[in-house]
Amino acid sequence: MIPPIVIPQADPGAGYRAHKAEIDAAVARALESGWYILGREGEAFEREFAAWLGAEQAVGCANGTDALALILRGLDIGPGCAVATVSHTAVATVAAVEMVGAVPVLVDVARDTYTLDPTDLAALLENPPAGLPPIRAVIVVHLYGQAADLGVLLPLCETFGIPLIEDCAQAHGAEWQGRKLGTLGRAGAYSLYPTKNLGALGDGGVIATSDVALAERLRALRQYGWKERYVSAEAGVNSRLDELQAAILRVRLTHLDAGNARRQEIARAYDAAVAVSSLSAPVRRNGSTHVFHQYVLRSADRASVQARLKEAGIGSNIHYPVPVHEQAAYAGRVAQAPSGCTQTSAAAKEVFSLPMFPELTDAQVERVCAALRGL
Ligand SMILES: *Cc1c(COP(=O)(O)O)cnc(C)c1O
Repeated sequence: MIPPIVIPQADPGAGYRAHKAEIDAAVARALESGWYILGREGEAFEREFAAWLGAEQAVGCANGTDALALILRGLDIGPGCAVATVSHTAVATVAAVEMVGAVPVLVDVARDTYTLDPTDLAALLENPPAGLPPIRAVIVVHLYGQAADLGVLLPLCETFGIPLIEDCAQAHGAEWQGRKLGTLGRAGAYSLYPTKNLGALGDGGVIATSDVALAERLRALRQYGWKERYVSAEAGVNSRLDELQAAILRVRLTHLDAGNARRQEIARAYDAAVAVSSLSAPVRRNGSTHVFHQYVLRSADRASVQARLKEAGIGSNIHYPVPVHEQAAYAGRVAQAPSGCTQTSAAAKEVFSLPMFPELTDAQVERVCAALRGL
Protein backbone atom coordinates (compact mmCIF):
# COMPACT_ATOMS: atom_id res chain seq x y z
CA MET A 1 0.00 0.00 0.00
CA ILE A 2 1.24 3.50 -0.83
CA PRO A 3 1.48 5.57 2.36
CA PRO A 4 -0.47 8.85 2.46
CA ILE A 5 1.27 12.07 1.43
CA VAL A 6 2.64 13.57 4.63
CA ILE A 7 4.45 16.52 3.10
CA PRO A 8 2.14 18.36 0.69
CA GLN A 9 3.52 20.28 -2.29
CA ALA A 10 1.68 23.42 -1.14
CA ASP A 11 -0.28 24.22 2.04
CA PRO A 12 -2.13 27.56 2.12
CA GLY A 13 -3.70 26.66 5.48
CA ALA A 14 -0.23 26.54 7.06
CA GLY A 15 0.29 30.16 6.01
CA TYR A 16 -2.89 31.16 7.82
CA ARG A 17 -2.10 29.18 10.99
CA ALA A 18 1.41 30.67 11.18
CA HIS A 19 -0.05 34.19 11.61
CA LYS A 20 -3.53 33.32 12.87
CA ALA A 21 -3.80 35.85 15.70
CA GLU A 22 -2.70 38.78 13.52
CA ILE A 23 -4.91 37.74 10.61
CA ASP A 24 -7.95 37.16 12.83
CA ALA A 25 -7.51 40.62 14.35
CA ALA A 26 -7.28 42.20 10.88
CA VAL A 27 -10.40 40.35 9.74
CA ALA A 28 -12.30 41.50 12.85
CA ARG A 29 -11.20 45.10 12.22
CA ALA A 30 -12.41 44.94 8.62
CA LEU A 31 -15.72 43.34 9.58
CA GLU A 32 -16.39 45.84 12.34
CA SER A 33 -15.60 48.81 10.11
CA GLY A 34 -18.94 48.41 8.33
CA TRP A 35 -17.25 49.18 4.97
CA TYR A 36 -16.44 46.20 2.74
CA ILE A 37 -15.46 47.33 -0.74
CA LEU A 38 -12.79 49.93 -1.70
CA GLY A 39 -12.15 51.58 1.63
CA ARG A 40 -9.35 52.26 4.08
CA GLU A 41 -7.88 48.75 4.14
CA GLY A 42 -7.59 48.63 0.35
CA GLU A 43 -6.05 52.09 0.19
CA ALA A 44 -3.58 51.22 2.93
CA PHE A 45 -2.67 47.95 1.22
CA GLU A 46 -2.07 49.75 -2.07
CA ARG A 47 0.16 52.32 -0.33
CA GLU A 48 2.10 49.73 1.64
CA PHE A 49 2.55 47.40 -1.32
CA ALA A 50 3.75 50.24 -3.60
CA ALA A 51 6.22 51.41 -0.93
CA TRP A 52 7.53 47.87 -0.41
CA LEU A 53 7.98 47.42 -4.17
CA GLY A 54 9.47 50.81 -4.88
CA ALA A 55 6.68 51.66 -7.34
CA GLU A 56 4.86 54.96 -7.56
CA GLN A 57 1.39 53.40 -7.49
CA ALA A 58 -0.40 50.14 -6.75
CA VAL A 59 -3.99 49.42 -7.79
CA GLY A 60 -5.89 46.52 -6.25
CA CYS A 61 -8.25 44.38 -8.32
CA ALA A 62 -10.10 41.08 -8.14
CA ASN A 63 -7.43 38.60 -9.30
CA GLY A 64 -4.21 38.23 -11.30
CA THR A 65 -5.97 37.57 -14.60
CA ASP A 66 -7.91 40.82 -14.27
CA ALA A 67 -4.70 42.64 -13.30
CA LEU A 68 -3.22 41.70 -16.70
CA ALA A 69 -6.45 42.46 -18.59
CA LEU A 70 -6.84 45.85 -16.87
CA ILE A 71 -3.27 46.83 -17.78
CA LEU A 72 -3.97 45.93 -21.42
CA ARG A 73 -7.21 47.96 -21.38
CA GLY A 74 -5.38 50.84 -19.70
CA LEU A 75 -2.85 50.85 -22.55
CA ASP A 76 -5.63 50.75 -25.22
CA ILE A 77 -4.73 47.22 -26.28
CA GLY A 78 -7.76 45.31 -27.53
CA PRO A 79 -9.39 44.24 -30.80
CA GLY A 80 -7.03 44.69 -33.75
CA CYS A 81 -3.92 44.19 -31.59
CA ALA A 82 -1.70 41.17 -31.01
CA VAL A 83 0.14 40.55 -27.72
CA ALA A 84 3.23 38.35 -27.56
CA THR A 85 3.62 36.10 -24.53
CA VAL A 86 4.59 32.54 -23.58
CA SER A 87 2.79 29.22 -23.77
CA HIS A 88 4.66 27.81 -20.73
CA THR A 89 2.59 29.65 -18.12
CA ALA A 90 -0.68 29.58 -16.21
CA VAL A 91 -3.41 29.67 -18.86
CA ALA A 92 -4.51 32.91 -17.16
CA THR A 93 -1.76 34.90 -18.92
CA VAL A 94 -3.19 34.04 -22.33
CA ALA A 95 -6.82 34.23 -21.16
CA ALA A 96 -6.24 37.86 -20.12
CA VAL A 97 -5.15 38.76 -23.66
CA GLU A 98 -8.30 37.25 -25.17
CA MET A 99 -10.47 38.87 -22.46
CA VAL A 100 -9.69 42.29 -23.91
CA GLY A 101 -10.29 41.12 -27.50
CA ALA A 102 -6.61 41.04 -28.49
CA VAL A 103 -4.90 38.12 -30.23
CA PRO A 104 -2.20 36.21 -28.31
CA VAL A 105 0.93 35.08 -30.15
CA LEU A 106 2.91 32.51 -28.24
CA VAL A 107 6.68 32.47 -28.04
CA ASP A 108 8.92 29.64 -26.80
CA VAL A 109 10.86 29.69 -23.52
CA ALA A 110 14.58 29.21 -22.94
CA ARG A 111 15.39 25.64 -21.91
CA ASP A 112 17.25 26.47 -18.69
CA THR A 113 15.16 29.28 -17.15
CA TYR A 114 11.71 28.52 -18.61
CA THR A 115 11.19 32.21 -19.41
CA LEU A 116 10.49 33.98 -22.72
CA ASP A 117 13.26 33.32 -25.24
CA PRO A 118 14.50 36.76 -26.40
CA THR A 119 15.93 35.40 -29.66
CA ASP A 120 12.57 33.95 -30.63
CA LEU A 121 10.79 37.16 -29.64
CA ALA A 122 13.22 39.22 -31.74
CA ALA A 123 12.58 36.95 -34.74
CA LEU A 124 8.82 37.38 -34.25
CA LEU A 125 8.98 41.17 -33.95
CA GLU A 126 11.23 41.41 -37.01
CA ASN A 127 9.10 39.05 -39.09
CA PRO A 128 5.55 38.80 -37.77
CA PRO A 129 3.47 36.05 -39.43
CA ALA A 130 1.15 37.25 -42.23
CA GLY A 131 -2.41 37.83 -41.10
CA LEU A 132 -1.44 38.65 -37.50
CA PRO A 133 -2.57 42.09 -36.25
CA PRO A 134 0.27 44.42 -35.20
CA ILE A 135 2.01 43.34 -31.97
CA ARG A 136 1.26 46.09 -29.44
CA ALA A 137 2.60 44.60 -26.21
CA VAL A 138 4.76 41.86 -24.75
CA ILE A 139 3.81 40.10 -21.51
CA VAL A 140 6.82 38.46 -19.89
CA VAL A 141 6.19 35.90 -17.15
CA HIS A 142 8.72 35.79 -14.30
CA LEU A 143 8.06 32.08 -13.94
CA TYR A 144 8.63 30.07 -10.75
CA GLY A 145 9.99 33.16 -8.94
CA GLN A 146 12.79 34.62 -11.02
CA ALA A 147 13.16 37.29 -13.68
CA ALA A 148 12.74 36.73 -17.37
CA ASP A 149 15.76 37.87 -19.41
CA LEU A 150 15.09 41.57 -18.86
CA GLY A 151 18.62 42.60 -19.84
CA VAL A 152 17.73 41.71 -23.43
CA LEU A 153 13.92 41.99 -23.38
CA LEU A 154 13.67 45.57 -22.05
CA PRO A 155 15.89 47.09 -24.78
CA LEU A 156 14.26 44.86 -27.42
CA CYS A 157 10.76 46.14 -26.56
CA GLU A 158 12.15 49.67 -26.39
CA THR A 159 13.58 49.32 -29.92
CA PHE A 160 10.22 48.22 -31.27
CA GLY A 161 8.33 50.86 -29.23
CA ILE A 162 6.20 48.21 -27.50
CA PRO A 163 5.34 48.24 -23.79
CA LEU A 164 6.73 45.35 -21.73
CA ILE A 165 4.19 44.12 -19.17
CA GLU A 166 5.40 41.95 -16.30
CA ASP A 167 3.34 38.97 -15.12
CA CYS A 168 4.63 38.84 -11.53
CA ALA A 169 2.08 36.31 -10.24
CA GLN A 170 4.94 34.02 -9.15
CA ALA A 171 7.59 36.60 -8.32
CA HIS A 172 6.49 38.90 -5.47
CA GLY A 173 9.72 40.34 -4.12
CA ALA A 174 12.16 38.90 -6.66
CA GLU A 175 14.68 41.43 -7.94
CA TRP A 176 16.58 42.16 -11.10
CA GLN A 177 19.69 44.34 -10.76
CA GLY A 178 18.54 45.41 -7.30
CA ARG A 179 15.04 46.49 -8.32
CA LYS A 180 11.88 44.53 -7.58
CA LEU A 181 10.15 42.84 -10.50
CA GLY A 182 7.02 44.64 -11.54
CA THR A 183 8.77 48.02 -11.45
CA LEU A 184 10.93 47.51 -14.54
CA GLY A 185 8.39 47.37 -17.36
CA ARG A 186 5.39 49.60 -18.03
CA ALA A 187 3.35 47.83 -15.34
CA GLY A 188 3.43 44.66 -13.25
CA ALA A 189 0.48 42.35 -12.58
CA TYR A 190 0.33 40.28 -9.38
CA SER A 191 -2.04 37.50 -8.47
CA LEU A 192 -2.77 37.26 -4.75
CA TYR A 193 -4.25 33.75 -5.00
CA PRO A 194 -3.80 31.85 -1.69
CA THR A 195 -0.78 29.76 -2.77
CA LYS A 196 1.25 32.65 -4.24
CA ASN A 197 4.22 34.08 -2.31
CA LEU A 198 1.89 36.90 -1.24
CA GLY A 199 -1.51 35.28 -0.95
CA ALA A 200 -4.95 36.41 0.20
CA LEU A 201 -7.40 33.96 1.77
CA GLY A 202 -9.57 34.17 -1.32
CA ASP A 203 -9.05 35.86 -4.67
CA GLY A 204 -7.14 39.08 -5.13
CA GLY A 205 -4.85 40.92 -7.53
CA VAL A 206 -2.79 44.09 -7.68
CA ILE A 207 -1.12 46.16 -10.37
CA ALA A 208 2.09 48.15 -9.90
CA THR A 209 3.10 51.04 -12.10
CA SER A 210 5.03 54.25 -11.89
CA ASP A 211 2.83 55.81 -14.57
CA VAL A 212 0.47 57.91 -12.45
CA ALA A 213 -1.95 58.63 -15.31
CA LEU A 214 -2.20 54.91 -16.09
CA ALA A 215 -2.87 54.13 -12.39
CA GLU A 216 -5.65 56.70 -12.33
CA ARG A 217 -7.24 55.18 -15.42
CA LEU A 218 -6.96 51.68 -13.92
CA ARG A 219 -8.75 52.88 -10.76
CA ALA A 220 -11.64 53.96 -12.97
CA LEU A 221 -11.60 50.87 -15.22
CA ARG A 222 -11.81 48.48 -12.24
CA GLN A 223 -15.14 50.03 -11.23
CA TYR A 224 -17.42 50.69 -14.24
CA GLY A 225 -15.17 53.46 -15.52
CA TRP A 226 -16.13 55.68 -12.60
CA LYS A 227 -13.91 58.62 -11.73
CA GLU A 228 -16.78 59.92 -9.67
CA ARG A 229 -19.57 57.73 -8.25
CA TYR A 230 -22.23 56.87 -10.86
CA VAL A 231 -20.37 58.74 -13.61
CA SER A 232 -18.86 56.41 -16.23
CA ALA A 233 -16.50 58.44 -18.37
CA GLU A 234 -15.56 55.25 -20.22
CA ALA A 235 -16.81 51.68 -20.09
CA GLY A 236 -15.15 49.71 -17.30
CA VAL A 237 -15.61 46.41 -15.48
CA ASN A 238 -16.14 45.27 -11.91
CA SER A 239 -12.81 44.03 -10.59
CA ARG A 240 -12.28 45.17 -7.02
CA LEU A 241 -10.14 43.96 -4.11
CA ASP A 242 -12.40 43.72 -1.06
CA GLU A 243 -11.61 45.11 2.38
CA LEU A 244 -11.37 41.72 4.10
CA GLN A 245 -8.73 40.48 1.68
CA ALA A 246 -6.90 43.82 1.82
CA ALA A 247 -6.75 43.65 5.63
CA ILE A 248 -5.40 40.09 5.45
CA LEU A 249 -2.88 41.07 2.78
CA ARG A 250 -1.56 43.94 4.93
CA VAL A 251 -0.62 41.37 7.58
CA ARG A 252 0.86 38.97 5.10
CA LEU A 253 2.92 41.70 3.42
CA THR A 254 4.78 42.25 6.70
CA HIS A 255 5.86 38.57 6.62
CA LEU A 256 6.64 38.34 2.92
CA ASP A 257 10.40 39.07 3.07
CA ALA A 258 10.85 36.45 5.80
CA GLY A 259 8.73 33.97 3.81
CA ASN A 260 10.81 34.52 0.68
CA ALA A 261 14.04 34.12 2.71
CA ARG A 262 12.74 30.82 4.07
CA ARG A 263 11.89 29.64 0.54
CA GLN A 264 15.47 30.48 -0.51
CA GLU A 265 16.84 28.55 2.47
CA ILE A 266 14.73 25.51 1.56
CA ALA A 267 15.92 25.83 -2.06
CA ARG A 268 19.58 25.76 -0.91
CA ALA A 269 18.94 22.60 1.08
CA TYR A 270 17.28 20.99 -1.96
CA ASP A 271 20.22 22.11 -4.16
CA ALA A 272 22.71 20.30 -1.92
CA ALA A 273 20.65 17.10 -2.07
CA VAL A 274 20.09 17.36 -5.84
CA ALA A 275 23.87 17.76 -6.28
CA VAL A 276 24.33 14.14 -5.18
CA SER A 277 21.48 12.84 -7.35
CA SER A 278 21.20 12.28 -11.09
CA LEU A 279 19.10 15.46 -11.47
CA SER A 280 20.18 19.12 -11.89
CA ALA A 281 19.28 22.03 -9.61
CA PRO A 282 17.24 24.91 -11.08
CA VAL A 283 19.32 27.51 -12.93
CA ARG A 284 19.52 30.98 -11.36
CA ARG A 285 19.79 33.96 -13.64
CA ASN A 286 22.81 36.22 -13.03
CA GLY A 287 21.91 39.62 -11.63
CA SER A 288 18.53 38.42 -10.41
CA THR A 289 17.18 36.97 -7.17
CA HIS A 290 14.89 33.94 -7.14
CA VAL A 291 12.00 33.82 -4.64
CA PHE A 292 11.15 30.17 -5.37
CA HIS A 293 7.44 30.28 -5.84
CA GLN A 294 8.24 26.81 -7.15
CA TYR A 295 11.36 24.67 -6.93
CA VAL A 296 11.29 22.90 -10.28
CA LEU A 297 13.34 19.91 -11.42
CA ARG A 298 13.12 17.98 -14.67
CA SER A 299 13.45 14.33 -15.55
CA ALA A 300 12.85 12.33 -18.71
CA ASP A 301 11.48 9.70 -16.33
CA ARG A 302 9.17 12.03 -14.42
CA ALA A 303 6.38 9.58 -13.68
CA SER A 304 8.66 7.15 -11.86
CA VAL A 305 10.47 9.95 -9.99
CA GLN A 306 7.12 11.32 -8.77
CA ALA A 307 6.01 7.81 -7.82
CA ARG A 308 9.16 7.31 -5.73
CA LEU A 309 8.60 10.63 -3.97
CA LYS A 310 5.02 9.62 -3.30
CA GLU A 311 6.18 6.35 -1.75
CA ALA A 312 8.33 8.44 0.59
CA GLY A 313 5.25 10.48 1.55
CA ILE A 314 6.31 13.53 -0.47
CA GLY A 315 3.88 15.47 -2.63
CA SER A 316 4.87 16.96 -5.98
CA ASN A 317 3.02 18.76 -8.74
CA ILE A 318 3.51 19.77 -12.38
CA HIS A 319 3.60 23.42 -13.46
CA TYR A 320 2.30 23.03 -16.13
CA PRO A 321 1.42 19.64 -17.61
CA VAL A 322 -0.19 20.95 -20.82
CA PRO A 323 1.13 24.13 -22.49
CA VAL A 324 -1.46 26.66 -23.57
CA HIS A 325 -0.95 25.96 -27.29
CA GLU A 326 -1.76 22.26 -26.67
CA GLN A 327 -4.92 22.90 -24.61
CA ALA A 328 -8.18 21.96 -26.33
CA ALA A 329 -9.42 25.53 -25.98
CA TYR A 330 -6.44 26.98 -27.86
CA ALA A 331 -4.85 24.21 -29.98
CA GLY A 332 -5.02 24.80 -33.71
CA ARG A 333 -6.25 28.38 -33.45
CA VAL A 334 -3.76 30.24 -31.26
CA ALA A 335 -0.89 31.91 -33.14
CA GLN A 336 2.72 30.94 -32.48
CA ALA A 337 5.98 32.71 -33.23
CA PRO A 338 7.75 31.36 -36.36
CA SER A 339 10.26 29.48 -34.19
CA GLY A 340 7.47 27.41 -32.60
CA CYS A 341 7.22 26.23 -29.00
CA THR A 342 9.41 23.09 -28.92
CA GLN A 343 11.17 23.86 -25.61
CA THR A 344 7.77 24.55 -24.06
CA SER A 345 6.37 21.18 -25.18
CA ALA A 346 9.53 19.41 -23.99
CA ALA A 347 9.44 21.11 -20.57
CA ALA A 348 5.78 20.23 -20.05
CA LYS A 349 6.67 16.55 -20.34
CA GLU A 350 9.57 16.68 -17.86
CA VAL A 351 9.15 19.35 -15.17
CA PHE A 352 7.88 18.73 -11.65
CA SER A 353 7.73 20.87 -8.53
CA LEU A 354 8.84 19.87 -5.01
CA PRO A 355 7.13 20.90 -1.75
CA MET A 356 7.73 24.64 -1.33
CA PHE A 357 6.16 26.96 1.24
CA PRO A 358 7.73 28.87 4.15
CA GLU A 359 6.08 26.79 6.87
CA LEU A 360 7.85 23.54 5.89
CA THR A 361 9.77 22.42 9.00
CA ASP A 362 13.48 21.58 8.93
CA ALA A 363 12.55 17.93 9.54
CA GLN A 364 10.22 17.94 6.53
CA VAL A 365 12.88 19.59 4.36
CA GLU A 366 15.41 16.97 5.46
CA ARG A 367 12.94 14.21 4.58
CA VAL A 368 12.55 15.63 1.07
CA CYS A 369 16.37 15.93 0.80
CA ALA A 370 16.85 12.30 1.86
CA ALA A 371 14.49 11.19 -0.91
CA LEU A 372 16.24 13.45 -3.46
CA ARG A 373 19.69 12.01 -2.70
CA GLY A 374 18.46 8.60 -3.82
CA LEU A 375 17.14 9.80 -7.18
C1 LIG B 1 -1.62 32.48 -10.75
C2 LIG B 1 -1.18 33.07 -12.04
C3 LIG B 1 -1.99 33.94 -12.79
C4 LIG B 1 -3.44 34.16 -12.52
O1 LIG B 1 -3.81 34.67 -11.33
P1 LIG B 1 -5.33 34.52 -10.78
O2 LIG B 1 -5.27 35.32 -9.54
O3 LIG B 1 -5.58 33.07 -10.54
O4 LIG B 1 -6.23 35.10 -11.80
C5 LIG B 1 -1.45 34.54 -13.91
N1 LIG B 1 -0.18 34.28 -14.31
C6 LIG B 1 0.61 33.41 -13.64
C7 LIG B 1 2.00 33.17 -14.13
C8 LIG B 1 0.14 32.76 -12.49
O5 LIG B 1 0.94 31.91 -11.85
